[in-house]
Amino acid sequence: MKAVRLPAWKSDPVIVDVDAPTAGPGQVVIKIAGAGLCHSDLHLLHDFDETMFPWQVPFTLGHENSGWVHEVGEGVDRVSTGQAVAVFGPWGCGRCPACDRGQDTYCHNPTGGYQGAFGGGLGADGGQAEYMLVPDARFLVPIPDALDPVAAAPLTDAGLTPYHAVKMSLPKLVPGTTAVAIGVGGLGHMGVQFLRALTGATIIAIDMKEEALALARECGADLTITAGEDAAAQVKEATGGLGAEVVIDFVGNDPSLATAVASCRAQSDLTIVGVGGGSFPMSLFAPPYETAVRSIYWGTRSELGEVMALAAKGLVTPHYSTYSMDQALDAYAAMAAGTLNGRAVIAP
Ligand SMILES: [Zn+2]
Ligand SMILES: [Zn+2]
Repeated sequence: MKAVRLPAWKSDPVIVDVDAPTAGPGQVVIKIAGAGLCHSDLHLLHDFDETMFPWQVPFTLGHENSGWVHEVGEGVDRVSTGQAVAVFGPWGCGRCPACDRGQDTYCHNPTGGYQGAFGGGLGADGGQAEYMLVPDARFLVPIPDALDPVAAAPLTDAGLTPYHAVKMSLPKLVPGTTAVAIGVGGLGHMGVQFLRALTGATIIAIDMKEEALALARECGADLTITAGEDAAAQVKEATGGLGAEVVIDFVGNDPSLATAVASCRAQSDLTIVGVGGGSFPMSLFAPPYETAVRSIYWGTRSELGEVMALAAKGLVTPHYSTYSMDQALDAYAAMAAGTLNGRAVIAP
């Protein structure tokens, strides 16, 4: 079968022929419906190496995956052949308190999962191929009938991660409050929709590109602001000089974090989602008093079911373009060039 692979650290992806996987005991092979490209894949391709992650290269890319159960291994009774399933991306050990609560992202034995990998496409073979091995059936979440299996792929990360971010701040987002989303790309455009679907807050979206701000308005943003040095001042102006109760940074570089910190009010939540590698100075006076700053990594297994339930009701809709396997490298080039609007999904 054809697969999009990372051939070696710090290199471009390649399309090669590899053997299709088979399911051992407890394992499942799925036929891929969709496999999303994530901006973090660019860091995986060009910035990461074996000193950061103890993974064997090459491996197949793609950590946002959905499909149909193709083969079940001995002892698997959670899913059956032909069933549409989404793949929960982070693969933990399955035997610690974090994994027990469906939060494999924070597994207590980070190398205790499958082959020491974080998940498919993150050390183990991912879904940018015709078939994918899922090492434990508990990583499969049924896709509701009303949801297109291809659309479920981007929901597993571009949906799940912003959902987790918004859900953690729900107690602060009562009607009359303001939430700011910085960066309206693959994750940010879903973040705006979750804010719209789950809260009565006023939503402000910030991005450098006018097309992204147009997408934000389509997704439910009440006010859009062009990124830049006066963006936070405009947030302050829109919030009576106080700043927002919740700020979610989907970029995470130095300029976006500076805007994020300056957009917060006292007792706000500042959540960093983007893998931009930035930082900001922290002191007694900034961010404002009693602001809770957190970073997050993906969401929980049960939350993936919640995200798909919302999408099946039509309350959130991922914006994406599909690419065939042969066009996969074009999709990576478009992502690197910043010309994607929403997500790119390979549908083999
Ligand atoms: Zn991702
Ligand atoms: Zn664990």
